[in-house]
Amino acid sequence: MTSSRVRVRFAPSPTGPLHMGGVRTALYNYLFAKKHGGDFLIRIEDTDQVRSTRASEEAILKSLRWLGLEWDQGPDVGGPHGPYRQSERGDIYRGYADLLIEKGHAFHCFCTSDRLDRLRREQKLNSQPPGYDGLCSGLSATEVADRHAKGEASVIRMHVPREGTCNVPDMLRDPIAIDWKQVDMQVLLKSDGMPSYHLANVVDDHLMEITHVIRGEEWISSTPKHILLYQYFEWDAPTFCHLPLLRNADKSKLSKRKNPTSIDYYQRIGILPEALMNYLGMMGWTMPNGEEKFTLQEMIDNFDITRISLGGPVFDVAKLSWLNGRYIRESLDNQQFGQRLQEWAFNSDYISQFLPMVQDRVELLSDVAPLAAFFFAGMPDVSAEDFANNRIDQPTMSKLLQLVLWKLETERNWDKEHVMADVKAVGDHMGLKLKDMLAPIFVAITGSPRSVSVLDAMVVLGPDLTRGRLRHALNVVGAPSKKQQKELEKEFQQIAAFLD
Ligand code: GLU
Repeated sequence: MTSSRVRVRFAPSPTGPLHMGGVRTALYNYLFAKKHGGDFLIRIEDTDQVRSTRASEEAILKSLRWLGLEWDQGPDVGGPHGPYRQSERGDIYRGYADLLIEKGHAFHCFCTSDRLDRLRREQKLNSQPPGYDGLCSGLSATEVADRHAKGEASVIRMHVPREGTCNVPDMLRDPIAIDWKQVDMQVLLKSDGMPSYHLANVVDDHLMEITHVIRGEEWISSTPKHILLYQYFEWDAPTFCHLPLLRNADKSKLSKRKNPTSIDYYQRIGILPEALMNYLGMMGWTMPNGEEKFTLQEMIDNFDITRISLGGPVFDVAKLSWLNGRYIRESLDNQQFGQRLQEWAFNSDYISQFLPMVQDRVELLSDVAPLAAFFFAGMPDVSAEDFANNRIDQPTMSKLLQLVLWKLETERNWDKEHVMADVKAVGDHMGLKLKDMLAPIFVAITGSPRSVSVLDAMVVLGPDLTRGRLRHALNVVGAPSKKQQKELEKEFQQIAAFLD
């Protein structure tokens, strides 16, 4: 290890909003740093330039701030190891990729995507694990130079032993044995000169003097590549700690298909950040005194990373709400409660977004609150009967809600024009009149058959709450069966293709 002071990082890829799993990772890194008097860094891993956006980066940092986590170094606060955004560190990685070529640990690969696709198909047919077959690994320096001179594009891949086993050390487990033949000869530098996640991650963890890599379990299978890179560079590897995946109540991996996972959703339904932090702590370990409600400082004082339990923690929204209720009742006095409500949604910034829609529809000022109540609600109180009163039958409605939900899950421009286009595309595809198809969406979003314009309401409510309500409605109406979902996914690909 290059530094004895504990240094950890949270390294999100800004390809969407901050998710619950990410918050848990950020929190545990933060606690570990604070417990050991160390540093907590934020590094933005935006080497996937197609999917990364600056708006996502800003949204992620905003959510982290809302949660009360402060970082010592990061893209917005700077620090001695910057830049903290990988897209601004391109030259650094190129130098290190060249170094590996020089040392004979990496090679230029000229294989075309056609060849790689064919290879993947053959491997699938022969039930072999997918991976590069090493065709270019033996090219001589002259052959490489000739092909470059002819204008052929290449990527840089790492050599990976084909025999033996890598034992991945982990703070929470016995070493995890992974056969080298399961490990792909990973691309380190793409043909456009951008590094892959693996190269950038290892180089940055080294240069930023990271001592402990605390991240989700889904990265275990990548760790042999990282360990090998540390060896190739002759650097000490950090200590690894892979956190168990958060799970839905049915033990499946926490995914937005079953539970809302974005932090914005929980903020919008009125979860307090301190309750969320407390809950995520509670999911990982128990306090010595058995108390379930504890502050961030108490968490820091009692944090022992080796006590994190590996038994697939279940993310239980009901338990989170219960804990949130305790915070509201026990930790806030009347004045603080009022202040929190104002910060949350009872403020003119928020209210002014929908007042113009309401003004045209009321006679008395006292008509406003009932009409606008759904702007302050979480999930509307709807039953199957509320959906029964319209022109489309249950199977059609269930299909419609499912397709609209999927379509909106892919929407990155949350404004009226795009939301409307998405909803209309599904309606056109299903041959439904706009008026008929909007009826169930109306009930799903506003909780009643008549209200303000539903598309405007969806824009104000935002993507997470809108999707949450559509998902809720789908459960109330009856979601398509697993088999129907499979068929529908195919159908959905068609609309997606035609719209994008
Ligand atoms: N950018 C990776 C992610 O989005 C970071 C993984 C790691 O911590 O190494 O999760």
